[in-house]
Order: sequence, then structure tokens, then C-alpha cells
Amino acid sequence: MKQSDIEFFKNLLLERKEQVLKNIDGATKEIESLDASDARDEVDFATLSVNNLIDHALSVQQSQELFEIEYALGKIEKGTYGICEMCEEAISMQRLKIKPHAKYCIICREISEKEKNKKRSF
Ligand SMILES: [Zn+2]
Repeated sequence: MKQSDIEFFKNLLLERKEQVLKNIDGATKEIESLDASDARDEVDFATLSVNNLIDHALSVQQSQELFEIEYALGKIEKGTYGICEMCEEAISMQRLKIKPHAKYCIICREISEKEKNKKRSF
């Protein structure tokens, strides 16, 4: 990958990281404000817990993404960015533009998804 491409994806990752951090921060603040508000009757409690579950799931997902972004930034430092971790082929720029923290090329990604589904069905 060209140095200019590396710079491009580094910026993309840094922007994404900032966005994810904002999302996590926003979700946390929302939970805090919900907790602080009165939720005396059952309906409110139900809504509150569903919202909390969704928020929690979202922040878990966001934290996971943050971790993957950090990991990808680390790979840029090491000079291994954009290389599939399974087959060691270059990941297509097209794919990286959609998912700059992708670890695998599209083919390996499909294989690993199938493996996961197989394990899930047992
Ligand atoms: Zn691959």
C-alpha cells in the first residue's frame, strides 16, 4: 500500500474513533439522565430497562469497534495494515473504505462467518 493510502486510512480510522468515543459518551450520559429521572410506575420501569439493555448492547458494540480501530491503528504503526490476517493477501481498498478496521479480506471474512454459524448451531 502506498504511503498516501496509509495516511488516508489512518485519518479515516482516527475520525471513526472520535465518532465512536462520542457515541459511547452520549450513551453513558443518556443512561445517567434516565436513571436520574423519576421512574415510579411499572411502565416507566419497563421502558427504562429496555432502553438500558439497548444502550448497553450499543456500548458493548461500540467498545468492540473502538478496540478494533485501536488495533488497526497499531497495525499501521507496525506496517502490517491492509493485509489479511488469515491468508496474508492485501485486503481490497474498496473493502477498507467501507470498513477501515477490517482484519480479513472478503473471502476469509466469509469463511470465518460460516465457521461462527456452524459453532452457533451446536
Ligand atoms: Zn484473506
